[in-house]
Order: sequence, then C-alpha cells, then structure tokens
Amino acid sequence: MESVRYPEGHVLLRNLGRTYPVVSHGQGVYLFDRQGKRYLDGSAGALVASVGHGNREVAARVHEQLVQVAYVNGTHFTSEVTEQLAARLCAMAPAGLDRAAFLGSGSEVIEAAIKFARQLWVERGEPQRAKVIARMPSYHGNTLYALSMSGRPHYKRFFGPLLSEVVTTAAPYPYRSGLDDYEREGAAHYARLLEETIVREGAETIAAFIAEPVIGSSAGAAVPPPGYFERVGEICRRHGILMIADEVMCGCGRTGRFFASELLGFSPDLLVLGKGLSGGYVPLSALLVKQAHLEEMRLGSGGFMHAQTYLQAPAMTAAGVAVLDYFERHDVVNHAARMGERLHRRLREVVLPLPHVGSVQGVGLIAGVELVEDEATRRPFPRARKVVEGLLDRLFEEGLILWPNTGHADGTDGDLVMIGPPLTITEGEVDELVEKLAQGITHCLERP
Ligand code: PMP
Repeated sequence: MESVRYPEGHVLLRNLGRTYPVVSHGQGVYLFDRQGKRYLDGSAGALVASVGHGNREVAARVHEQLVQVAYVNGTHFTSEVTEQLAARLCAMAPAGLDRAAFLGSGSEVIEAAIKFARQLWVERGEPQRAKVIARMPSYHGNTLYALSMSGRPHYKRFFGPLLSEVVTTAAPYPYRSGLDDYEREGAAHYARLLEETIVREGAETIAAFIAEPVIGSSAGAAVPPPGYFERVGEICRRHGILMIADEVMCGCGRTGRFFASELLGFSPDLLVLGKGLSGGYVPLSALLVKQAHLEEMRLGSGGFMHAQTYLQAPAMTAAGVAVLDYFERHDVVNHAARMGERLHRRLREVVLPLPHVGSVQGVGLIAGVELVEDEATRRPFPRARKVVEGLLDRLFEEGLILWPNTGHADGTDGDLVMIGPPLTITEGEVDELVEKLAQGITHCLERP
C-alpha cells in the first residue's frame, strides 16, 4: 500500500510550544524518527516499554489474539487469555490477592481500586468510611478521582475543587526528609505521621490508604526507609483501613522483583499494575483484590459495581500473557535487577560527583537524579531557570530521552530527572545512558 503523507498539526499535543519529531519505529531500547535520528529511550516512554521496542514475540501474540476475537463485553464473556493472565498474576502476587480485573490505563484501575474499597465499606454497613489517605508526594493518575489523590499541586491547579474525601500524609522522601538518619529513623517517623492523620480524621471515616511502594514520577524513584511498609501495614490493619499498593509504575519487574511490594516485604489489600504489564503494545492495567472481599460483596449486593467497555478485553490481556512469557523465557526480572545494580553504581560513580547533583536514588531500573543550585544547603535552582527542562531538551537533541519533574510535591521548586529504561537494556546501553546524562549535566550546569 502506498503511504500518503498527511499534513501535520491537527493532533492536540500536550506541549503546544514545541514541535515534535515524527517517530518512525523502535528496536530494543532505541527509537528512530522519520529523519533517521536514533534516541536511547532512557525512560521507556513513561516507564512503559518493559520488553523493549519492536518486540516481535509480543506483537505476534497480540495479533494472533486479535484475529481470533478482537473484543467481547467483559460482562458477557471471559476468555482463555484473560483467565490465564489472572491466574498467573495471582499466583505471583503477595499473599491473599487472588482475583484480577483488567482495564486499559493506570488511572482507570486506580479509580476502580478506590471504588472497590468504598463499596466494600458500604456493604459492611460503614458508609461513612469514605475518605482516602494518600501521600505527598505521589501520583496516581489524571482522571479526577486519581488526580484528587495525587500529591502534585502543579497538575491540579485548573481543576479544583477536587474530591474532598482525600486526606494526605507525608511520603518518605530521603533527600528532603530533614531526618538525621533516614534509614534508621524514617519508618517510625513517617508511620507516626500516618497514625496522627488517622487519629485526627477519625479511623471510622477512612476507607483506604494508598501508596506507591517506590514513588514514581512525583519524587524521582524515592525508596521508603527499611520497615516503613511493615509499620504502616500494621497501623492500617489496627484501624481497619484497607491498604492499596499503586504499582502502576514500580511494578512488573521495574525494581528487580516482579512486585515492588514483594521487594519491600508487605501484602496490600488491593494492588494495581499498568504500564510495563503490556510493555506498551496495547493499553493494559490490572486490579488485584482478595476473594474474601469479593465474597462480602457477593453476599451483599451481588458483586463489584464497576465495568467499562474494555474490561478484560482479550487483545489487552493477550499482551499481558505475552509479556509474562517473554519475562520468563528471557529471565527479564533478574536481568533488570542486575542492570539496575549497574545503573545505580554507574550513577553514583559518574553522575553523583558532578556539581549540582544533589541526590541519586531508586532501586532496580527506576532511578531519580535531583539537581540543586547549592548542594550544601540542598537549595533548588530558581524555577525561572528551567534547569531540568533545559537539560532534557539538550539530551533529547543528543539522542537520549529522559523524563523531567519540575517540582516537589509540597509546591516548592525542584529539578528531577527520572530514569527508567526498558528492562531488556544491556550493560553497554546502561553505560551509554549514564555517560550521555553526565555529559549533558556537565554541559548545561557548568555555565553560571
Ligand atoms: N499511578 C502511578 C504510580 C503512575 O506512575 C501513573 C502514570 N504515570 C498512573 C498511576 C496513571 O497511569 P495512566 O497514565 O496509565 O493513567
């Protein structure tokens, strides 16, 4: 078929102030634009492309499913691939999570998780348990409920008033915790803040506590202090509050374990996945819940009151099965753990010593670099300088794609670089990523 070039400019792009290159194709960790320029996709898009670009094994499985049956209404049928994906995820998941539902995006499963928690409390005869405790910083999605819960003031500024049932508590953030010894004091400190929030609001008004085990884009891969989730889990159980783990970004092998909650040693009541679950081949997200909770709903109103057009669509779940198969065949999660160690070692050796690099954090193939004007006082650059935007624009020019974050969740300015390449990245590609980042920082931040 002859390809026709249509005029560009009709797509509503996110950033109206810039022109976007037209992507041509991808292979492994690289993307190529129509001009033939090569980019190392150091953030796997939005930490999505877990099995790399141009992965024919995964694409072929989606195609096979599409020609078999493209779509069925998830309230009429289940399907072999959907059953398989649910069974395999539940077998791998933290204890007790034994039912899965599939939707298209992270925001959708976050909404579904909160609705699940709230319905459960209504079924239990405690409808006043309608509040959700979320954390600052955090990001849970861009639909209004998910945005209400997100500790990202910058994203919310046009959309208030948002939902009032959302209450926040501080999330662990090593570089700006203000603690003398984050590793030793952190768990008790942040757990106390959560408990104070619960007591202030009244536990009997709280449905759920939601947290990203490793915080993604809002805090550049902040890892909690040892024992944090053990303590907050105990607090939630004591107050009867359901715990939701948002693993949309940090799940599916990103931390070097399939589930981040497994890495951090806790079992949430609900768990959500997205992004890397399908590796970007089609939209796919998952909500994992407990059968015991579903049983309460079955005996009450009959079931969870939630469906959307693409609920459990076989073409989506086929991608999930194909990604799990690919993970197994190529030992991707252990590979990600090894490449993650290399990435963090190289970042500490090459990037951390550079002027204006305040911190390097993260685990596995999710990492964040915070740039500051003054390292001694951790003072950020004035926002007007747009430091991280300038750096990432230059890196993009140089063929390295990374993800910027321009603020701390408390509304103060910040310059964070988010790193999260495909999990299939090789040693040489890790080194290339770190070298390019270091060169970019040296070039952009040397000047007064
Ligand atoms: N939760 C987390 C932790 C995320 O990082 C994101 C996306 N960046 C979402 C939820 C929302 O996912 P989506 O953009 O697919 O709606």
